[in-house]
Amino acid sequence: MDDARRRTGCPKRMVFGPCGGVRDDGRCEVAEHRCVFLDDPAPHWDAPAPAPAPPRPGSLLDRARTRPVVLTDLTVAPYDPASLRRVVAVLAPVSNGLLVGEHANRPDLPPTLFAAEVLDAGGRPWTTLACRDRNRVVLEQELAGLAAVGVDGVLCVTGDARGPGVRPGVTQVFDLDGTRLAALAAAAGLTVAVPESPDAPPAPRRPARVADKQRAGAQVCVLNHVRTPAGVAAFVAAARRAGATLPFVAAVAVYTDERSARVLQRFPGLHVDDAAVERVLAAPDPREAGIAAAVAEARALLAVPGVVGVNLSGLASDGGEDAGARVKAEVAAAIGEGT
Ligand code: SF4
Repeated sequence: MDDARRRTGCPKRMVFGPCGGVRDDGRCEVAEHRCVFLDDPAPHWDAPAPAPAPPRPGSLLDRARTRPVVLTDLTVAPYDPASLRRVVAVLAPVSNGLLVGEHANRPDLPPTLFAAEVLDAGGRPWTTLACRDRNRVVLEQELAGLAAVGVDGVLCVTGDARGPGVRPGVTQVFDLDGTRLAALAAAAGLTVAVPESPDAPPAPRRPARVADKQRAGAQVCVLNHVRTPAGVAAFVAAARRAGATLPFVAAVAVYTDERSARVLQRFPGLHVDDAAVERVLAAPDPREAGIAAAVAEARALLAVPGVVGVNLSGLASDGGEDAGARVKAEVAAAIGEGT
């Protein structure tokens, strides 16, 4: 389906582009040219979508009906089930969902195995599935596996491209894009989340992308970092006007030192509050200041109509996965106390 509609010149072979990695000046995330979707918009989603799967009882989306929720990024040592168990033990008690990433620059256990380990350790996984490293057949396998394992949801992303020098020579597949993967995941009976990058060009067209992704099967939208809560509010309102009715989860930047802050600042397609970063880094106790800044950002985001939860995102600490988990757990607990 849709292969003939792939956009010529898009290194990610997208139909429903653009991806979230378009540079601020309109350059492609991958190649030295203008993103090919800026001057010639993608088609709208026009295929029927299956009826959405009801949220699993006790899941983040289920809980979001009655109270604000916390989705926490799960950062663990590569290929290390012991690290995974330690981090889940810290984060699961204070999170409504744990977001398992798909990283371009570090290896991870296979998604289905990762999700099973998280469940076994007492967490509720939302698994990110990216189109970068898996062809359509393998994506179908993983979706069937994730449904069988019993994840609360799957975050369907096109995926950031591997940068120059990162595993050179490794193929980047991109058989599908995030929107088409969302439709496939919905057809597999999974609860589907999708990302969007409000600040990435073409910003005025991104609200309508959320509506398209919802038509393809998305049930919740996880937003990338935006500089201010007012920016999130404007984006959600625009998405509503474009026809999106789904709930939003907004990203909170969690950093407590130079490295964890700079990683977030450098990531293409997202923006953090640079003034807040400098205040935290200059504070007498940057760890305490970073936690306070994240809690304040979370509270402001949860006051935005349409935002049902926050995604605690980022490394949080340069002290390793366990230290990062402890920071995020403190943020999550403080948010829970205030809601
Ligand atoms: S920025 Fe993304 S969508 Fe645009 S051409 Fe590059 S890879 Fe394709």
